[in-house]
Amino acid sequence: RERNPGQDEFVQAVGEVARDVFDWIADKPEYTDAQILRRLTEPDRIVSFRVCWEDDDHRIRVERGWRVQNNNAIGPYKGGLRFHPSVTESVLKFLAFEQTFKNALTGLPLGGGKGGSSFDPKGKSDAEIMRFCQSFMTELYRHIGPHTDVPAGDIGVGSREIGYLFGQYKRIVNRWEGAITGKGLGWGGSELRPEATGFGAVYFLRRMLDHAGDSLEGKSVVLSGAGNVALHAAQKLIESGAKVLTLSDSDGFIHDADGIDQGKLDWIKALKQERRGRIKEYVEEYPDAEYHGDGAQPWDVDCDIAMPCATQNEIDEDDAKALIDHDVLAVVEGANMPTTHAAARAIRDAGILFAPAKAANAGGVAVSGLEMSQNAERVSWNHEKLDNQLTDLMAEIHDKCVEHGADKDGKVDYARGANIAGFEKVAGAMLAFGVV
Ligand code: NDP
Repeated sequence: RERNPGQDEFVQAVGEVARDVFDWIADKPEYTDAQILRRLTEPDRIVSFRVCWEDDDHRIRVERGWRVQNNNAIGPYKGGLRFHPSVTESVLKFLAFEQTFKNALTGLPLGGGKGGSSFDPKGKSDAEIMRFCQSFMTELYRHIGPHTDVPAGDIGVGSREIGYLFGQYKRIVNRWEGAITGKGLGWGGSELRPEATGFGAVYFLRRMLDHAGDSLEGKSVVLSGAGNVALHAAQKLIESGAKVLTLSDSDGFIHDADGIDQGKLDWIKALKQERRGRIKEYVEEYPDAEYHGDGAQPWDVDCDIAMPCATQNEIDEDDAKALIDHDVLAVVEGANMPTTHAAARAIRDAGILFAPAKAANAGGVAVSGLEMSQNAERVSWNHEKLDNQLTDLMAEIHDKCVEHGADKDGKVDYARGANIAGFEKVAGAMLAFGVV
């Protein structure tokens, strides 16, 4: 905390990992003597830069952009770009730190990074978004590349923004190379990338329930968010026979007690992705559902499973209590660090299955890794091949968590398992490199 004043999110993320790792390295002096954890909590580098752009009224706007390159021990830095008013250096440092462990868990050669800006894309015209993205890339391009650092999308950075960013990168370097993932299918993108995080989280959940002798069939699920992760998780949940009760955005949530079926979900996808509308419009189309505004969250809705898929710290201690009172079976983190430290503790202590983000939402970066491989080979793999790879990969991540997180009675602490498995992989490489 003294080394990172005011960076609460970053300190929170490090604290979560450190607790598990300290126990594990207590009798392993090779890690402690080499100060591996200390080194991992100091990013390799942080680039901060001015992003100057002109709005539609010809006013000059000045924003700040960042790229946090946390660790490249096992591969090029890799992690998304986030455009949202809540972005700070602390938020990006926490995300880059987490990304390092998550990427290690995928088994692919990917280091950890993250970047973005507090620029708010909401309400901006296409032309304004394009000018912002071009200005952002005019600085970022010199810090990235297919062997150096490969950014992708995140909150506020979807296929439109990736298009503008990649277009500007290509124009500046005069090379077509896979320096960004999440690209459109017609210009180097991978099948299944848009679906991968949400689908992967549900594949992880299915494996976790299976391991506990249960299944997803007939389970009710409360989801937050209505973006890329939430909507694809909802789709796979519905396909798996579960009943999706809620979705949200930053204004509030909708609760459909009859369940959001595929037809209703298609309507929401068009609302969010084509019309860029608000989730409250759902109740005008489906009046039997309820809308709860003023930023309300869905955690008090009775359910079997909760999947926070919007943003960090959306489940606090009170929300955790509500989930425990409702006797939920599992909490699966689709978003990054959506559960506060105290809430995660309470959920884990209550014996609820808890799938941490770095394991549960690793499917997106994994398919991004596969997009990099396809770009390097100049090939495109089909949907089915990628879906099989994603299913296998999520199963392997699950099993690594079990390997490092199961106690003598067979009860699995998935968060501990994920932290230790990720640390072991990255630390092993860092030890091989000596003091660098
Ligand atoms: P999107 O921008 O597509 O969607 C984000 C959703 O969360 C929107 O519905 C948004 O509502 C809501 N939201 C964002 N910020 C807040 C907030 N402060 N309070 C309440 N609601 C909020 O992002 P993604 O779906 O891509 O990402 C969601 C989470 O998943 C993030 O934590 C991200 O880091 C993580 N993630 C994403 C991956 C991916 O492949 N996309 C990969 C791994 C993790 P509104 O429109 O009102 O802002």
